[in-house]
Amino acid sequence: METVDAVVIGAGVVGLAVGRALALSGQEVIVLEAAQAFGTGTSSRNSEVIHAGIYYPPGSLKARLCVAGRALLYDYCASHGVGHARLGKLIVATDAAEAAQLADILAAGQANGVTDLVSISPADARRLEPELACTAALLSPSTGIIDSHGLMLSLLGDLEAAGGALALSSPVTAIHRTHNGFVVDVTSGDGTFGLGCRVLVNAAGLGAVAVAAMLADLDPSGLPRQYLSRGCYFALQGKAPFRHLIYPVPKSASLGTHLTLDLGGQAKFGPDQEWIEEIDYAVDPARGEAFYAEIRRYWPGLPDGALAPAYAGIRPKLQAPGQPPADFRVDGPAVHGLPGLVNLFGIESPGLTASLALGQHVLSTLAG
Ligand SMILES: Cc1cc2nc3c(=O)[nH]c(=O)nc-3n(C[C@H](O)[C@H](O)[C@H](O)COP(=O)(O)OP(=O)(O)OC[C@H]3O[C@@H](n4cnc5c(N)ncnc54)[C@H](O)[C@@H]3O)c2cc1C
Repeated sequence: METVDAVVIGAGVVGLAVGRALALSGQEVIVLEAAQAFGTGTSSRNSEVIHAGIYYPPGSLKARLCVAGRALLYDYCASHGVGHARLGKLIVATDAAEAAQLADILAAGQANGVTDLVSISPADARRLEPELACTAALLSPSTGIIDSHGLMLSLLGDLEAAGGALALSSPVTAIHRTHNGFVVDVTSGDGTFGLGCRVLVNAAGLGAVAVAAMLADLDPSGLPRQYLSRGCYFALQGKAPFRHLIYPVPKSASLGTHLTLDLGGQAKFGPDQEWIEEIDYAVDPARGEAFYAEIRRYWPGLPDGALAPAYAGIRPKLQAPGQPPADFRVDGPAVHGLPGLVNLFGIESPGLTASLALGQHVLSTLAG
């Protein structure tokens, strides 16, 4: 049986960032990915926004890893030639109740160490974005956008340059504990083979809870229940009259139907929010109707018929519908008692922004 120092399950942006961090720390690493290509899950179905770190409860993993990860990511993109743009974002209130919420958002951002947030008047907001309608706004200059595929390609390059490897079409189907680590069973067209390792990181995204449940030594009562929250995007046909990302005041399970731009200048709106039972990425064109009303609150000039169904992503939520947002869970030996094992649960937004910081955090979790 082949044995390596470390196995990472899942080649999304988080698994690749963790694999890279382990490889750069001198360990021999294999990243196992069920799909035929890396990054086909949530990592290619998101807004591609580099978040500043504003909304999360101070001290939470989401807050800390987003703020740290954002700085790491901008540096990484600059030094590794990964496409990105620090466009800045406007968070806009469209009535008095939302304007009052902006003060809380500003305070939360400052408590998280987002030091560049500024409150601006509706007139100043319109000077920046003449088509915008709002009663108050916050400007977040350090919010940006990133080519997530380019990032993953670069992380993979680093992993391989440090001696690590990615195995595609390699779904993990069973995990056993040994006296000094784990054996991970991979089932492919050629049958099932086992891979031994001392360190095992479960970065399987939407599959993370199911993967953790494969390990009989883990107490099932310690595993979270995962809920699925789908977000659909609609693309704007034609050119957007905006240069900044535009976000409404957030809702409980999502950041609201925001406008983001990709590096080519194409605008999309979304994601909306819908609790679902099974993974299904189909976008119902009828959901577009609700988009028009929401977007016209801050962009009254949105033309009829301008939106086309684009794609959907699914957030792995650890809170049930109606419950307050849950934090990322990075369960290491201190939580479950198994040396060498880290389970990553609930890595929804801002997981892309936090990916490099998550890589470092997994290393320190393993070090105890
Ligand atoms: C709608 C939406 C919008 C978002 N927008 C943003 C944003 O703008 N900015 C931001 O920072 N974050 C955003 N996020 C969050 C971000 O996209 C995720 O946190 C991040 O992509 C998660 O990466 P991951 O590697 O954990 O998961 P994934 O990308 O899903 O990767 C997990 C991988 O594990 C593999 N896998 C599963 N089971 C197995 C198995 N048994 N064996 C082998 N492999 C397996 C899967 O095939 C998959 O490739 C958004 C998320 C959603 C849903």
